[in-house]
Amino acid sequence: MRGVIMYAPGDVRVEDREMPAIVEPTDAVIKLAATCICGSDLWPYRGAEHVDHNPMGHEYAGVVTQIGADVRNVTVGDFVVGSFFASDNTCEICRAGYQTHCVHRQPGAATGAQSEYVRVPLADGTLVATPGQPDTDLIPSLLAASDVLGTGWFAAVSAEAGPGKTVAVVGDGAVGLLGILAAKQLGAERIIAMSRHADRQQLGRRFGATDIVEERGDAGVERIRELTDGLGAHSTIEAVGTQEAMMQAIRATRAGGHVGFVGVSHDVSLDGQELFFSGVHLHGGPAPVRRFLPELIQLIWDREIDPGVVFDLTLPLEQAAEGYRAMDERRAIKVLLSV
Ligand SMILES: [Zn+2]
Repeated sequence: MRGVIMYAPGDVRVEDREMPAIVEPTDAVIKLAATCICGSDLWPYRGAEHVDHNPMGHEYAGVVTQIGADVRNVTVGDFVVGSFFASDNTCEICRAGYQTHCVHRQPGAATGAQSEYVRVPLADGTLVATPGQPDTDLIPSLLAASDVLGTGWFAAVSAEAGPGKTVAVVGDGAVGLLGILAAKQLGAERIIAMSRHADRQQLGRRFGATDIVEERGDAGVERIRELTDGLGAHSTIEAVGTQEAMMQAIRATRAGGHVGFVGVSHDVSLDGQELFFSGVHLHGGPAPVRRFLPELIQLIWDREIDPGVVFDLTLPLEQAAEGYRAMDERRAIKVLLSV
């Protein structure tokens, strides 16, 4: 089968790879319906994370082709979606809804999901089957549920977005945009998207943004305060992971408000005294996508939400390197790779 290997920063290749097989009796092997490139794949691509001949990809949706002897909840032929972390979904941490911190957690796409097939560990806890075989046009949305939608959703839940709330969203990548969609679904009254790119602003509005703020940093914070009677947002989603974005999120939030931070943190450090006097709640980290998958799959199945529109460029798997370039240069919000 064919699959993506990142040899080194900036060096992405598609190669013949060994066909995944069942290793543990709790494994499943999936034939991907489509795969994609994540914003977080750009960290190693840009040299900000170590990479050395790594199989790439952690977002997946597709048809089960093999199951281990102990797998009970899914079977060969099921169309399934799973999270980027595999979890047993039975330990105390999982039952509390924090499956990404499962005591048995491990990478969900064990062999790399930017490929034709992938092995998924702990299949019973990790995979959720769709109600039937999806129409082709639902596949991008189901794939989005595997990470970016689930992550944006967790950010909105962590920020306590809901009726009567003003939600600010820092970051106009796929996760930030789907955080807007999530905030809207959760009933937020006003959603302020922070973005300076016309195409992303447009998608943000489509997902439910009511206001756009183009300023960044302190000027962006000032603008959010102007829009909220000087108080700041009730709920702020941080979907970038840089120092500037994190401070922008904390400072744009009113005392007693909530920040949901899901941008993978890189060199962020928080000043204790500023945090102490901010009076904001901080919650975030790697999203427990598995908690939300049944609900998200149903919303997609019923065509209540259309998160798949974040994929604004589709390329064949063989052209993965061009997909990485397009995302790195911000020519594409998110790239779907057809397999
Ligand atoms: Zn667990």
